[in-house]
Amino acid sequence: MQPIRGETHDDTTIRRDHRGGPPFLHKDVGATWSFIVFAKPSGAWAPRIDDVHDAVTARRTIAGIFQEFFPEDAPVIEQLDVIESDPVSWLKGAVTPTVRQAVATTTSGHPVAAIGDTAIAVDPVAGQGAQNTVIQVAELVKAARAHDGEFTADWLAEEFEKHWERRGHAAVEVTRLFLGDPDYATHAELSFPAAAVSPAIAQALFGLLSDPNPLLGLRTREDVEGFITAVAEPHDQVLARFAPAGRFSSAAPAAVTV
Ligand SMILES: Cc1cc2nc3c(=O)[nH]c(=O)nc-3n(C[C@H](O)[C@H](O)[C@H](O)COP(=O)(O)OP(=O)(O)OC[C@H]3O[C@@H](n4cnc5c(N)ncnc54)[C@H](O)[C@@H]3O)c2cc1C
Repeated sequence: MQPIRGETHDDTTIRRDHRGGPPFLHKDVGATWSFIVFAKPSGAWAPRIDDVHDAVTARRTIAGIFQEFFPEDAPVIEQLDVIESDPVSWLKGAVTPTVRQAVATTTSGHPVAAIGDTAIAVDPVAGQGAQNTVIQVAELVKAARAHDGEFTADWLAEEFEKHWERRGHAAVEVTRLFLGDPDYATHAELSFPAAAVSPAIAQALFGLLSDPNPLLGLRTREDVEGFITAVAEPHDQVLARFAPAGRFSSAAPAAVTV
């Protein structure tokens, strides 16, 4: 979305908002703002997303979400306009998390390997897909360089298994954590409130998006409590400081430098 021509914006207000993306340079109009929202199928935002059919309805839905859930920023959002010249400035979709058998053989007998989303598709909520792809490809190229002999289906399958152990599995699990999967109910119950009151825990939790592997070692309630204690201070002390907001706050929290 672009600022309405002739308007200037209170940059401070926009910058402290973490839900809108930073300005993009659009091919037609230069600096623009984009928004991304994630709606769970059973959540309050899903029917709003169902109503999105073009850039105008996308803008209307975003403005409506801000009005209801983030009213302090709604006046800024209201000032934004769609880019008339770009009918494809909006996108909606859904991802079915899928891990495939990553190697197959063509009818003429050539082994083929799937990479990236074709092998492991995750919901974008935890930003894992491209990272996972880049690591898979880099490691595959490295292994291919060091390999002497045929690139057989077995060799490709073995390399995929190594990738699964090295990164793929953790990328899938951290996505499940951030999606609110019931298997991670304890992790969410303890670590998100702890992150709300401790910048060190917030940083460690956010760090799982860059390196999700430590999550694989956190299986039980005791593991998660130990994680909180190791990162910050005794888990019961951290959690005792947390008071649920009960509703979205009308004032964004001050930025914390860690
Ligand atoms: C909204 C959203 C936000 C995301 N945010 C992040 C993030 O923050 N961090 C992160 O790591 N990942 C993120 N991802 C995931 C990331 O975009 C994907 O994981 C990544 O692009 C996968 O790369 P890929 O090469 O496997 O597939 P793609 O990037 O999808 O590339 C496949 C290409 O093949 C082309 N193609 C398809 N069929 C054919 C055909 N028959 N002939 C020729 N070409 C064809 C397609 O047009 C496409 O260009 C996000 C995804 C979405 C949807």
